Amino acid sequence: MGEEEEEEQEKSITCYIAVETGEKQFLKNTIASNNLVCAFSAAPSSEPASIARVRLTPAGGRAALGERRGNAPGSASEGRKDTKGPGGDVGSTRSDPVSGRPRAGVRGRGWPWRRQRIQIPTRLPLLLTHEGVLLPGSTMRTSVDSPRNMQLVRSRLLKGTSLRSTIIGVIPNTSDPTSDCDDLPSLHRIGTAALAVQVVGSNWPKPHYTLLVTGLCRFQILQLLKEKPYPVAEVEQLDRLEQFTNQHKSEEELGELSEQFYKYAVQLVEMLDMSVPAVAKLRRLLDNLPREALPDILTSIIRTSNQEKLQILDAVRLEERFKMTIPLLVRQIEGLKLLQKTRKPKQDDDKRVVAIRPNRRISHVANTTEDEEEEEDHDDVVMLEKKIRTSSMSEQALKVCLKEIKRLKKMPQSMPEYALTRNYLELMVELPWNKSTKDRLEIRAARIVLDNDHYAMEKLKKRVLEYLAVRQLKNNLKGPILCFVGPPGVGKTSVGRSIAKTLGREFHRIALGGVCDQSDIRGHRRTYVGSMPGRIINGLKTVGVNNPVFLLDEVDKLAKSLQGDPAAALLEVLDPEQNHSFTDHYLNVAFDLSQVLFIATANTTATIPPALLDRMEIIQVPGYTQEEKIEIAHRHLIPKQLEQHGLTPQQIQIPQVTTLDIITRYTREAGVRALDRKLGAICRAVAVKVAEGQHKETKPDRAEVGEGEDCKEHVTEDAKPESISDTADLALPPEMPILIDFHALKDILGPPMYEMEVSERLSQPGVAIGLAWTPLGGEIMFVEASRMDGEGQLTLTGQLGDVMKESAHLAISWLRSNAKRYQLTNASGSFDLLDNTDIHLHFPAGAVTKDGPSAGVTIVTCLASLFSGRLVCSDVAMTGEITLRGLVLPVGGIKDKVLAAHRAGLKRIILPQRNEKDLEEIAVHVRQELTFVLATCLDQVLNAAFEGGFAVKPRVEHLNSKL
Ligand code: ADP
Repeated sequence: MGEEEEEEQEKSITCYIAVETGEKQFLKNTIASNNLVCAFSAAPSSEPASIARVRLTPAGGRAALGERRGNAPGSASEGRKDTKGPGGDVGSTRSDPVSGRPRAGVRGRGWPWRRQRIQIPTRLPLLLTHEGVLLPGSTMRTSVDSPRNMQLVRSRLLKGTSLRSTIIGVIPNTSDPTSDCDDLPSLHRIGTAALAVQVVGSNWPKPHYTLLVTGLCRFQILQLLKEKPYPVAEVEQLDRLEQFTNQHKSEEELGELSEQFYKYAVQLVEMLDMSVPAVAKLRRLLDNLPREALPDILTSIIRTSNQEKLQILDAVRLEERFKMTIPLLVRQIEGLKLLQKTRKPKQDDDKRVVAIRPNRRISHVANTTEDEEEEEDHDDVVMLEKKIRTSSMSEQALKVCLKEIKRLKKMPQSMPEYALTRNYLELMVELPWNKSTKDRLEIRAARIVLDNDHYAMEKLKKRVLEYLAVRQLKNNLKGPILCFVGPPGVGKTSVGRSIAKTLGREFHRIALGGVCDQSDIRGHRRTYVGSMPGRIINGLKTVGVNNPVFLLDEVDKLAKSLQGDPAAALLEVLDPEQNHSFTDHYLNVAFDLSQVLFIATANTTATIPPALLDRMEIIQVPGYTQEEKIEIAHRHLIPKQLEQHGLTPQQIQIPQVTTLDIITRYTREAGVRALDRKLGAICRAVAVKVAEGQHKETKPDRAEVGEGEDCKEHVTEDAKPESISDTADLALPPEMPILIDFHALKDILGPPMYEMEVSERLSQPGVAIGLAWTPLGGEIMFVEASRMDGEGQLTLTGQLGDVMKESAHLAISWLRSNAKRYQLTNASGSFDLLDNTDIHLHFPAGAVTKDGPSAGVTIVTCLASLFSGRLVCSDVAMTGEITLRGLVLPVGGIKDKVLAAHRAGLKRIILPQRNEKDLEEIAVHVRQELTFVLATCLDQVLNAAFEGGFAVKPRVEHLNSKL
């Protein structure tokens, strides 16, 4: 070796490393961080993951190398430039490297790896490992925690900056003593010189390093030079490429051996699944690698024990190495053969695809051969294509479907996309592109259906009939979407269902409550896993016609989220100008929604996005009065419940007084849903009695109570006379029908849940009854106030909103400014009401958030009662907004509020004068039972709220106003 060459080896090193996918850049970076430059020149055909030829140069040595390139033809760099890389050359003349004979055409310049052969330093620090064996050409991760190995990493790998410092000797099968002072054990004679590619340190659970090392070549220890702080030995490099040129064995013999080895290696790789990228790469690798590197690399890839690897490492002679590796390959091949035999019956990939197809096919699977299956699949696809062609889908959709089916035909069934595409096409075929029901619209019939299905709700029925009449005259759906707004259980959904019935259309309800993803409406794009169409398209598929009635339930409960705003997606659906070309993301073609009749329902308009609200015509559906509820119960709910429970009117009788009891004492709601549930509970209990034939025993029980008989008599008067006579005619046992009286009610439903508590609670000053509106209907609301010694603070409790808090402040200010006029004083007799006084205002049902201005008059009345020490009349409720000047302004929800007061048994209601018009909506009989006091200012409110009026002193000081 000349001096020049020596110098070059100092500066650069070329080696072959099996680089896994993505590791190349990583290797480059790590090596660069060690102040080295690394140049990869992989085989031309090789993919990113392959055996790469790496040339390492100290960072500063680059220029020197460049100079050499020009000065010394045939040098390392030139060799690399001229030859196409090892892979290309070896691939074309496979036997060359083994024979070692320079190939024609590159003779003179030589083989790059031969000329830049691996030259390791003669003195190597030794890393002692006992887990795993590193072979040249492979990479290993090893954990380092013993003192000597740690020292090596710290003072050699982490501190060193030169190329030499990253090369270490890895001695296998030798455990480093755990203590520093322990003697060094006897070392394995042969090791692998390795490049430390990465060092990772960690302190947990104890200080240690993890080393990533790449084997370069074998070496043999000649002499141990030092033991501490880490062992260093003088070594002799064993793997030299000169080996092959100066073969001891005849070339033919080794050629045969290597050919045989190559054949086995290829056989092994071909038994693996070539569709796995790593396997395909391994196959390419076999052709691209120098043969002499194969035994080492394959041994580290196939399943071998450490002992076997050690033997391969010890096999210094190439011939010996080939001989020893062949049995290992054969063993692996046999093992694979056995495995494939046992797996054969389970070749179920295709069947899995079959399993997700419709059921009818699954029964065939067991007894059909694979060929038949394939044929059948083909038939299915042909059928699908036929269906697509004969379906009446739009031109655009047909084009997309034909393209997809073309793709489907070419696709292997095991591909996940196969099932996806098929599902898509099946949906496209199933959609009702052109299928519709014929409208039978006859307004008189529609009126009868609506009247038969629903009691009361005149305003709603009137508007619905108008809507239908317009449709009858003008066969066009363009117009506002109807939106029914009202408390739960007032029949919004069931009116929607009746509309579908009158039109003879299919009905489909889409619950929107809590929907917060716009894909729920508009579908997911087909690229996503688990993608599916939105609710609109799904609904159309379910009903199977393109002109159903869609009820969009609870539009006020749509939510926004990161996944988009579903309300925005609904805008397109509901806009008659746009929805003829609604594009669901899953379908990706337009579908005409213009024939669909949309009806929406909501509890309140407050939370409906304005843009959506704009597209809809709001029809308020208020709650029911007690009388209406009784009628609804007897006309609709009870017959429905009896039918559902298999009972007949001859077996159970629920008189009207009982219904009233249920309404007033067991439910407190604007609608009739809870009432319906309670009636259901009664029917269940009676069904048990009837089924057991035990009703005979229940009767004496009730008689024992004493009142039972009276109650029954009373009830019989109220009950429909014909049902009683029916009972007699049928000659049923005397106990039939089972009469549900108050006691039976208590037995079945438990003690009453709501009691009339109004008069009790108004037994002390500082309490007044207000009326509130909630999305669930109207409610009465007690306002309580108390005062105590303090510093003039106002405390408000009961989860109040800002507007309500402001009302409280307004009320206090007004009362303070009018204290003298009304002779209101604090505890110490002063007209300054807050002087040394704290006031606490509480709105019970503290868990419910309350807001709005309408509690103003109630707060004033409540505080006036507190400061005057007088009781508010216990039969009066009030609502109205106040101003600082003491005016009473109109508020909303009057009908619901009045009904709530009526439900609660109150007699007088104080309302703002300007709300007088709202009273017209209230049923006459309710109005007759109530007295309305219409107020324009707070004087009138206070006068009406207190028995005998509220004294006022003439207001002289106002004349001096400077305003
Ligand atoms: P909503 O949609 O307003 O919450 P539903 O339409 O679900 O209420 O009504 C609940 C139940 O009450 C249904 O069984 C319905 O038939 C019944 N119902 C409500 N109002 C009436 C009415 N006016 N006449 C007859 N049944 C009614």
